[in-house]
Amino acid sequence: MAALRGRLVDLELDGVVITTPENIRYLSGFSGSLGYLIIGRTDAEILGDSRYWLQMEAEAPGFTLVRSGPSHGLWALVAERLKALGLRVGFESQHLTFDQHQRLLAALPGEHTLVAIAGLVEELRIVKTPEEIELLRAVAAIAGRAFDRVRGAIRPGLRERDIAFLLEQTFRELGADGPAFETIVAAGERGALPHGRASDRVLERGDMVVVDFGATAAGYHSDTTRTIVVGEPSTEQARVIEAVRQAQLASMELMKPGVAADAVDRRAREVLAGEAHAFGHGLGHGIGLQVHERPFLSPTDHTALRAGMVITNEPGIYIPGWGGVRLEEMVLITENGPQVLTAASWEIGVG
Ligand code: ZN
Ligand code: ZN
Repeated sequence: MAALRGRLVDLELDGVVITTPENIRYLSGFSGSLGYLIIGRTDAEILGDSRYWLQMEAEAPGFTLVRSGPSHGLWALVAERLKALGLRVGFESQHLTFDQHQRLLAALPGEHTLVAIAGLVEELRIVKTPEEIELLRAVAAIAGRAFDRVRGAIRPGLRERDIAFLLEQTFRELGADGPAFETIVAAGERGALPHGRASDRVLERGDMVVVDFGATAAGYHSDTTRTIVVGEPSTEQARVIEAVRQAQLASMELMKPGVAADAVDRRAREVLAGEAHAFGHGLGHGIGLQVHERPFLSPTDHTALRAGMVITNEPGIYIPGWGGVRLEEMVLITENGPQVLTAASWEIGVG
């Protein structure tokens, strides 16, 4: 809140309305699906309808609860509270819909200005607090233990969707709230689809399988990918997996304070320069209250890495008609270099 208020002063804003659920949770602790924060230079209010009053009082004790009537009265109330803060107020243009913006504008008198502040809170979320790092470490550990447990059950005859179901069930058994995203299980030629959702395809001996999985708890997410082979890996499968691993290790070495995000991405592509089907997606993404958040290890993100950032590293090779390999770790940037938060068996052969 202190950092956000510093930004309000820099931007000459009297206050902001925060509408993005992850940003509301980050600033206030409120985890419900509908509510708004009105934050001024000194005031902090949370607005909600009767479904959330008890939850808001319990989760957001630092905010004054402003009770609205039925949910359709919320926009008039948002305008009224913003008016009380001053003439220049910010809104999250990356989240508010055009329709909501129009309604808010109509409810504010003409002398008030609505200023777009896209990404202001996301900017604060880039560097994680020690508490957030512990939550990310814990949720990554749950996912890794679940993978190691399910790994032993993978055998020919199972469908991709059976593996996804077993993983997601195990996340919950181990204390997570559920999967962080739709679990990806892509076997054989389907592995060439970087985001192949788990299908009815039945696993056969010799299939290489990309498994991209994550758990969520307390609002935080994990994201890990392993590529395994049902039975003994062929020479070519082992070669491609090793090539991707080398790209990951070489680029991970650069994940330290001061290095630009795009330089890490470039390093992985250099290692795979001899491969005809190296990955076309970004090398990685920040992770926290959202699965994909800033910074991005991609050619267009020049953010300098800082200690406390948590970013994935996920190079791949996707060969149409043959299959794919992706390996993904969550990496904490520290003053002493990269620290891998994810844990899951690296053994390739299963079943
Ligand atoms: Zn992933
Ligand atoms: Zn990822």
